[in-house]
Amino acid sequence: MKVDTGSTPETALERLYRLQVEELQDYALFLIDTDGVIANWNSGVGTILQYTRTEFVGKNFAQLFVPEDRKARAPENEMLTAARYGKSADVRWHLRKDGSRVFVDGTLYAVRENDEVVGFTKIMRDATARHESEKALRRSRDDLAEFAHVVAHDLQAPLRTMKSYAQLLAKRYRGQFDESADTFLAFVLEGANNMEALIAGLLNYSEFGGKGAAASVSLGDVVEAVVAALRIPKEECAAQITWGDLPVVEANPTHLRQLFQNLIDNALKYRSSRPPEIDIRAELKENQWLISVADNGLGIAPEYQQQIFLPLRRLHGPEIAGSGLGLAVCKRIVESYEGRMWVHSIPGQGSTFYFTLPRTNKLSAP
Ligand code: ADP
Repeated sequence: MKVDTGSTPETALERLYRLQVEELQDYALFLIDTDGVIANWNSGVGTILQYTRTEFVGKNFAQLFVPEDRKARAPENEMLTAARYGKSADVRWHLRKDGSRVFVDGTLYAVRENDEVVGFTKIMRDATARHESEKALRRSRDDLAEFAHVVAHDLQAPLRTMKSYAQLLAKRYRGQFDESADTFLAFVLEGANNMEALIAGLLNYSEFGGKGAAASVSLGDVVEAVVAALRIPKEECAAQITWGDLPVVEANPTHLRQLFQNLIDNALKYRSSRPPEIDIRAELKENQWLISVADNGLGIAPEYQQQIFLPLRRLHGPEIAGSGLGLAVCKRIVESYEGRMWVHSIPGQGSTFYFTLPRTNKLSAP
């Protein structure tokens, strides 16, 4: 069915709305029919995509996609997703009239009449500047990770020497020192072990390189495996861990395991005096999976909620063991799948960690 552009007379309000939409410069807005043929235009199309009305209307919207995406049937898939779920949102390169590329944040909405899809509206916003600054941020983070890698690697050898001589002293001269010297030596060894764990964490963080081998992974299975092998046994703190329907995603299974392991371990480590309750959920949001891991633990004050994702930022002292790298690794993993990670937390009530992952269509049983 084609889009009916309408022939009933406009009210004054409709006319005002239409004029505002037409004049909107920062957003490209247009209507397409069910074959993808463009039926109208606003002036934002001129700003973002360089077309005039006559050049634009009547063309197929597929021509705005780059050849790789056209080959992967992205225009058809967008229409199918919007028809099925109401809308399809994504951020991708598009082509301007002169063939140059523009990075666009776009959403395609299905237009329904009597329960039937009669067309779609597309809203686009130029996200090139944001894309460039994110790229620069990623580059500087990669430089930092490389630096951390070199430092951590070079610290290993002197630490190994210090640790083995401290062990030798403790073994060979046990009982020959006075009591305080034995205690001091025990502190030296404990410090060396902590530093070893920190260096191992830094190497793990800095060696993280891209997605690696992806497979279809059931998040339900991953959570089950992580819960079965927790570092803090559930029984020790009477924890209750629950999860709903979790999806199957295309990702590296080791990454997903590491992600859930860090989050669930943290939820148990940073528990309050109440028995921990941890709940893991997934919902489809804007064509991506939004996963949440909620706890009823200590919570995090608002001023620290961004910092905790940076390497080596800890809000707790040595009374709770940790290297301050777990969440930094989680964020790197999520971002390698073009996802986002953040936390919502109320001190004294608990925290919910959120992250997004790309969508496939299957669901795995709880
Ligand atoms: P680590 O746990 O090894 O210190 P993370 O990077 O996993 O490092 O976490 C960074 C900091 O964020 C922790 O030291 C802790 O202060 C805080 N944190 C992490 N998860 C939680 C949580 N679920 N509840 C309260 N605080 C948390």
